[in-house]
Amino acid sequence: METNNSKVLLIYTGGTIGMIKDYQTGVLRAFEFDNLYSRIPELSHLDCEISVHSFEKVIDSSDMNPQHWVSIAEVIEKEYQHYDGFVVLHGSDTMSYSASALSFMLQGLAKPVIFTGSQLPIGDLRTDAKENLITSIQLAALKENGVSVIQEVGLYFEYKLYRGNRTTKVNAEHFQAFTSMNYPILVESGVHLKIMKDNLLKGKAKDQLEVWKEFEQNVAIIKIFPGITPELLNAFFNIPHLKGVVLETYGSGNAPTYDWFLEALRATIQRGIPIINVTQCSGGSVIMGKYEASEALRQMGIIDGKDITTESAITKLMILLKKNISPNLFKIKFEESLAGEF
Ligand code: ASP
Repeated sequence: METNNSKVLLIYTGGTIGMIKDYQTGVLRAFEFDNLYSRIPELSHLDCEISVHSFEKVIDSSDMNPQHWVSIAEVIEKEYQHYDGFVVLHGSDTMSYSASALSFMLQGLAKPVIFTGSQLPIGDLRTDAKENLITSIQLAALKENGVSVIQEVGLYFEYKLYRGNRTTKVNAEHFQAFTSMNYPILVESGVHLKIMKDNLLKGKAKDQLEVWKEFEQNVAIIKIFPGITPELLNAFFNIPHLKGVVLETYGSGNAPTYDWFLEALRATIQRGIPIINVTQCSGGSVIMGKYEASEALRQMGIIDGKDITTESAITKLMILLKKNISPNLFKIKFEESLAGEF
């Protein structure tokens, strides 16, 4: 495997990774990625060519929205033929949402798109940003016989590359901020880069990249809890223009069996609003019909979210709702894996 002669584009959107601490004042300010090599001289040891595209207005990832996802995707679309791989520098807070969205948007992707960020600013003495950045660039440059080794959207953090749409941010303090409970890691970085070839996405790459750019934002994530009231549930389901719901249920997809609860769900589905059953557990899968508490959901046509993350489910829902397909086809399409998310 080689990285030489590869060209990698860094797309800088913001987040902690782009910060540098002024040691005199203690204030964090944005790092100039244009002067990347002078800031991180180690990069010159990589035998690939790195260019930087910076968002005009860099943002904390709490401000990310579908328009930003489209902006990231459009840079990749425009530069797709000119680069071998892409690294997206992004705040960690909503990185799993963006990585999930991009995995569905970049249809036919045959090159690596690696999201990364850091818990400490790049200018901090104990920063995790340098390792995350350098290894992400290496992964984005990696080729075998001239072909990209990674042909999917990944998320690299603290020595591990994960499938982007399988990740969740689980820790606000540890360097190990992300996990992928339902899918093994793609690459482990130690003395050597250990690439788990069997875990990489296969069979989705095409000659031509197609980019999906439409999102339905009239959607909701509803997390049930013991004591949830009919007023609250019905208020959610009666939000004007609501088009789809991700329902976070218990365990293997179980929900209350009260008549009012089931009736509220049934009425919503009958209005043509799809409801996706995902589990509140961070690992494991929805298995509708395993318990009586989920059999009623299965019978009324709730969509099986299987082992998808909430981040993936909501972004996939936003995209599929824009395809204007019948409720039956919608269910079939949602339950199919588009980018390795199940
Ligand atoms: N709040 C920051 C962000 O998500 C945290 C980070 O960058 O890790 O943009």
